[in-house]
Amino acid sequence: MVKTGIGFDVHKLVEKRKLILGGVEIEYEKGLIGHSDADVICHAIADALLGAAGMGDIGMMFPDSDPELEGISSLRILSEINGRLSQRKYKIVNIDVTLIAQAPRIAPYVERMKINIAKVLGIGPAFINIKGKTTEGLGFIGQKEGIAALALATVTKDGL
Ligand SMILES: [Zn+2]
Repeated sequence: MVKTGIGFDVHKLVEKRKLILGGVEIEYEKGLIGHSDADVICHAIADALLGAAGMGDIGMMFPDSDPELEGISSLRILSEINGRLSQRKYKIVNIDVTLIAQAPRIAPYVERMKINIAKVLGIGPAFINIKGKTTEGLGFIGQKEGIAALALATVTKDGL
């Protein structure tokens, strides 16, 4: 059985915050704000995986109201989700991500992101793809007010 899931996330760019994407700290004048480290790539992947497994969404599993989650690395969230998928006998096949940001350019960081994510998901980096896209200056992303990410996850499970 093969199942797919889609994930989407967006966070606001503000001053005096680190920019963390795919578990990598990226040099930029602003960072994303959120309850955790606001890593949109990890959050979109989390929702894609939960969607594929039919397990709801990241907000249900890791509520904003939980003080324990304040400032945590989103790689930890992915690791936790991977554990829950394994318990239900799901195997991750591949992940594809599109990061939608006007700036900064992420190409120099993509390999490190893939290694980070692959490690917590227990798959090879070759099964993760991350690409960047701008909005040609249009809208809130184009105005550098925020960054969004889309992810697609494929999982398999033996039998039903
Ligand atoms: Zn998020």
